[in-house]
Amino acid sequence: MRSEFLPFNPPNIGDEEIAEVVDTLKSQWITSGPKTKAFEDSFREYVGAESVIAVNSCTAGLHLSLLAQGVGPGDEVITTPMTFCATANVIEHVGARVVLADIEKDGFLLDPNQVAKKISASTRAILPVHYSGDSVDLAAFDELVVSEKSRRNAMDGNRKSLDLIEDAAHALPTEFGTQRIGSRKNLACFSFYATKNLTTAEGGMITGATELIDRIRPMALHGMSKDAWKRFDKSGTWQYDLMAPGFKYNMTDIQASLGSVQLRRLGEFQEKRRTLWEFYNRSLATLSAVQLPPEYKGRSGALHLYVLRLNLEQISISRDQFYDEMKLRNVGCSVHYTPIHLFSYYAKKYSWKPSDYPNALAVFDRMISIPFHPKLELKDAETVVEAIEDICRKFRR
Ligand SMILES: *Cc1c(COP(=O)(O)O)cnc(C)c1O
Repeated sequence: MRSEFLPFNPPNIGDEEIAEVVDTLKSQWITSGPKTKAFEDSFREYVGAESVIAVNSCTAGLHLSLLAQGVGPGDEVITTPMTFCATANVIEHVGARVVLADIEKDGFLLDPNQVAKKISASTRAILPVHYSGDSVDLAAFDELVVSEKSRRNAMDGNRKSLDLIEDAAHALPTEFGTQRIGSRKNLACFSFYATKNLTTAEGGMITGATELIDRIRPMALHGMSKDAWKRFDKSGTWQYDLMAPGFKYNMTDIQASLGSVQLRRLGEFQEKRRTLWEFYNRSLATLSAVQLPPEYKGRSGALHLYVLRLNLEQISISRDQFYDEMKLRNVGCSVHYTPIHLFSYYAKKYSWKPSDYPNALAVFDRMISIPFHPKLELKDAETVVEAIEDICRKFRR
């Protein structure tokens, strides 16, 4: 058994990131300015986006995306129960109603067939999540949007738009066939939270068509007509207009310094993730009490989380007890996620029962995320496997 506690996902910051942050701190400008612009440029190029804007979180990005698409009170947004609470919270922020559709039976991704059943005259957006960096079936969602729009056009009286917004918090880098997530014209939001594949401590990026990003840009900085850097640098003037009461969602140059270096290192991080992924797959394949993560041909990449599904009929303990047993063996685990409909706020507001989304509920009861990040050494990953084997042996039915 390991003698020291292995944290689930510590930050992955190297000397290069530190040097770049110090350089920013010693410069004449520390908030949104030249380094944010440089990070935006390299990110845009990396994912192949038409336009991007850096923000201070993915949550902020999703909030601005819903606003840019004009989603508000009286509207419905369809999303997945299997996500971080922020995905649903932003729908509440704009005053729209959260509509959940269940995930597919043998995985974690929002099921387009379930979404089709939830589309109503009030549906204004579909907000799927590329869980763990596996892309949802974007072609199926595109088809849903196109057919519902033409249905609305054919009918008089409902000319409401319907837009796809991707929660791409896990999806850096992820491909859907030949498309990279973030390269499409619809809005997609990435997260640079401390535990994500690329981190700026807190941060996010919105990608999409220039027309949409241009609509978002002033709203990410109070609704002002000119950003601060343009007002304070030598060519600027102090004047600005206020076009709407916007939000304070801008990224700082300190964060962007981390982001630019992390983006340069992303290839190296991803290689390490791939090696660990294959190591876990090989080592756990013969253990019948655990099911390996699903794999999607042609629509994966980021390998953000390594999520095991316990075959509970083979062991005498629950997922929560399994988690505690891992901790007893000095291995930190996590669970991604408590389905949205189980949270008291949402259950109460929408009168949702646990059994309303049976696939999300069933997988929640047996899912556990094990340590999986680029700084994890193979010898530590071996101790994770040993702990899992030991628990499965001890509690075999
Ligand atoms: C992390 C995460 C978010 C929120 O990202 P922040 O940058 O922390 O706001 C949203 N959705 C999913 C699926 C996430 O994992």
